[in-house]
Amino acid sequence: MGGQKERLAQEIILGIGGAKMLKELGISTDYYHMNEGHSALLTTEAEGEKVFTTHTPVPAGHDKFSRELVERMMPKENLNQLDFGNELNMTELALENSRYSNGVSDRHAEVSREMFPGHEIDAVTNGVHSATWSAKPFSDLYDDNIQGWRTDPARLTKVAGIEDSKIWKAKQECKLKLSHHLENGNLDQEIFTIGFARRSTDYKRPTLIFRDLDRLESLAEEYKGLQIVFGGKAHPEDDRGKELVSKVLKFSEMLENVDVFFIEDYSMEDSLEMVSGVDLWLNNPRRGQEASGTSGMKAAHNGTPQLSTPDGWWLEGCIKGKTGWNIGENYVKGEDEDRIDSESLYEKLEEIMSIYSQERQEWINIMENCITLNASHFNTDRMLKEYLARAYN
Ligand SMILES: *Cc1c(COP(=O)(O)O)cnc(C)c1O
Repeated sequence: MGGQKERLAQEIILGIGGAKMLKELGISTDYYHMNEGHSALLTTEAEGEKVFTTHTPVPAGHDKFSRELVERMMPKENLNQLDFGNELNMTELALENSRYSNGVSDRHAEVSREMFPGHEIDAVTNGVHSATWSAKPFSDLYDDNIQGWRTDPARLTKVAGIEDSKIWKAKQECKLKLSHHLENGNLDQEIFTIGFARRSTDYKRPTLIFRDLDRLESLAEEYKGLQIVFGGKAHPEDDRGKELVSKVLKFSEMLENVDVFFIEDYSMEDSLEMVSGVDLWLNNPRRGQEASGTSGMKAAHNGTPQLSTPDGWWLEGCIKGKTGWNIGENYVKGEDEDRIDSESLYEKLEEIMSIYSQERQEWINIMENCITLNASHFNTDRMLKEYLARAYN
């Protein structure tokens, strides 16, 4: 934390200090891969090729420093390598000095090209590590049926050959594990369960699903119950996190037919329990702000379809009605985004809960598609191969 001065000091140590340290240690490399602009000052110190990945379209995520501050703090010999105006933009610096730059989804690369005109910005869509993000009931199932999937997760397409009953059973085991993991009650195994877990930032709209409580109640009534599991960061000094927990608590008290559970201080372990133990993963950021999003990819590895606004990786991962559903798919960004999206959210839930409760076979097909179509592709193995072919070639 701290102000601009501390921030720049950190980035001088990271970029210039880091490059000097590697030199002292006699470690040489062909490529330096900068993630975000934080390390971009290494371009004034290190030899060798640079590769750059931008990870967020949110303007606050891109560091800028005033000329005055940079001139005061930078070592002379490094400062002389820089050519900039009134302000040093670390993302621009990285883009200008890299042989290859990319965003982390097709949509994010598009948004980044608009933010930084004149630069070539390719897309390498993020992935998650398949063996880490497949919960034990699913990884056991894959181990039993698909040789080599851990090192070659593209083979998860072969899940198409596994009996439906085994996929269903793995999900039920995960649901039971999640139930034991909860502190404020137990899940009913028979009831449709939605998961939502986020860093609590405004654009992710954690309380969108509570906009119309009556509508939510009537969905629960129609389909014999509804459970929602929330995960959030609630650090004692994090007011937003605390606000989220108290809001969720308040709504859960107001609801009669909907059971709401929450996991405080949401960790990676909680995340694995959640993405695997629920029936549907919900993601509803305002459009244009999600660079990629990865929790929906984790969900896919555990046969959990996603309902999401079309943003980030989901524009590539959603095959409507087969791997999940879109919220507000016809909406063009403008006013009333929250109202229109929440209405669409309830309409989609109606459709989704109807399949879950009345077309079980179709539901299991959808679970299977999540693994065969999405887990087989949105993983780090595929992602690294793309970096090898395009960035480190
Ligand atoms: C995966 C994960 C995230 C990121 O989820 P997004 O969908 O990319 O926002 C955040 N926190 C934890 C603990 C996670 O496991």
